Parts: sequence; structure tokens; C-alpha cells
Amino acid sequence: MEVAAYPVDLQLHSTASDGTDTPAELVQLALQRGLRVIALTDHDTVLGIEPALAAAGERLRIVPALEFSTLNEPERDYFDLNILGLGIRHHDPALQTVLQQVLESRIEQKVRQIEKLQTHGVDVPVEEVLRRVNGVPGRVHIAQVALERNPDRFTSIGDVFAQYLATDAPNSVYVKRTFSLTVEDAIDLCHTAGGIAVLAHPGAYPRVHDMDAVVRRLAQQGLDAIEVRYPYGQNRGHYGASAAEVARYVAHFDALADELRLLKSGGSDYHGQVKPGIHPGDAGLTWVEWEALAAVCGW
Ligand SMILES: [Zn+2]
Repeated sequence: MEVAAYPVDLQLHSTASDGTDTPAELVQLALQRGLRVIALTDHDTVLGIEPALAAAGERLRIVPALEFSTLNEPERDYFDLNILGLGIRHHDPALQTVLQQVLESRIEQKVRQIEKLQTHGVDVPVEEVLRRVNGVPGRVHIAQVALERNPDRFTSIGDVFAQYLATDAPNSVYVKRTFSLTVEDAIDLCHTAGGIAVLAHPGAYPRVHDMDAVVRRLAQQGLDAIEVRYPYGQNRGHYGASAAEVARYVAHFDALADELRLLKSGGSDYHGQVKPGIHPGDAGLTWVEWEALAAVCGW
């Protein structure tokens, strides 16, 4: 197993949301790759954190975290923004209350999406999708079942997204959630739970028109950090980008963070088999950067 480029990776997903590795498998993989610190950042859930802490013991530092989805607000140019809460108290009661509401609305949304997919003649039973969920349901769970039961119609998980599940798919089955946090709610909740609020992958929001302006506004609304180092070439909006292009994005947001006096995070956004080509520690922080961040945040 190859040693990771960075010893600290502050964005990883497990089976508690839409990743394919269990928290314990993720911990093993991180150790094999020589990582020393990871943040488990499942979408809208902290259910993977205790299993990760138990698996890691003293061998690997786990930063309790999560990644909030937020409400789209076109009039403010907010589209699909993800706020990472790093270093949170994952048992915080206010956090738990909100996460329960988010979970209920996510389940309701996914059931409606499955029903729309069924109207296209795709064989995808609701109960079978929900059985796969170990924390919060995601579109990937729908895609897995659709692929398995309809091999004549889909060639891969990505193909299900391209045909139906992506918001911009030709036959998109997207439906709005009945409950979503605003970006400010998400930032405030990170603080309530004792963590810092980090804008995930600022260069990977293709629907936002002026990202720098959005970052400037969020900085005034309490955002603490942006995720500067990120494998843009393997993610939406940038598939196949060259190393030089990725470096340009990273440098751009690095300079913006300096200008706005924001802290800097970094992560691979590892999801296991659903994002092949990404490995824990492909992006993250150097040890010196981590120590500086941890000191400022009191970790
Ligand atoms: Zn994810």
C-alpha cells in the first residue's frame, strides 16, 4: 500500500452516509496509508464517529465532524453549498435535534425520488433501498439498487446518476427536501456544537456564478475556514483537470483565505468505490499545517 501524500485528511465519507467503507474499514485504510489524523465528515450525520473512534483507539486521531447540506438560495447565489463542521461535540443535544429533522426529510425526499424513478419503468423497490442505509440515505443507495436490478438499462452507478439522479440529468428525478438548513444555520450549528465551520471544496460549485463573492459574504457570516487543498480533477465540474489546473484552483483559494484571514483545511473527499481514483490522504494538510490549525482551534 502506497503512503499517502498528506498525513492529515479532513474530509472522508463512510457507510454512515454515501461512502462504501465502514468507519472501521476507513480507519484501517488510513492507517495502512500512514495517516495520523482523519476527520470523518459524513453528510448530515455523526453516526459513524463512535465506531471510528473505537476502531482507531490510540493509533489514529479522529476529528469528530460532519458535512452539512444547505438550502439553495438563488437570489444570493447559494447553490449546493456544503459546510463542514470540524472538531464538533458529536453528542451535542442541539445538533442531535437538527440532525433528526434532517434525517426525516432526507428519507421522505429519497422515497419520492424512488417513486419518480419507478414511473420511468426502473425496477427499484423503496424497502430495498432503505435496507442499505446505515445512517442517512443518499442517492448512491438508490443508484446501487437500480444498477443491480436493471443491468440492461445501466452500466454503472455513474450511469444511473447521468440518466436520472443528477440534478441536471435529462430525466432528473430530483425533488426538493421539505427541511433544509440555511448556510447561516449550518455555520451557527457548527459553533453551537463547539466546532469550526468550513466551506467544503470552494472550487467545485459549478452552479455558483461568483464564488469569491460568496466566500467573502460567508466570511462575514461567521465562516471560519475554507477547504483549500482538494482533488478537483476527480470531482464535479473538473473531471480530468490537469495537475496544473488543480494547482491553480488551490492557489487561488489559498490566497483568498489569506486575504480574508480564514483558516485553511484540506481533504480528499474519499467515498470508497463510488469515487474511484481517490484515496485517503490524496489531499489534506501537512503535519506542520495540522499542528497550527489544531493549536488555533484548541484541538
Ligand atoms: Zn458524500
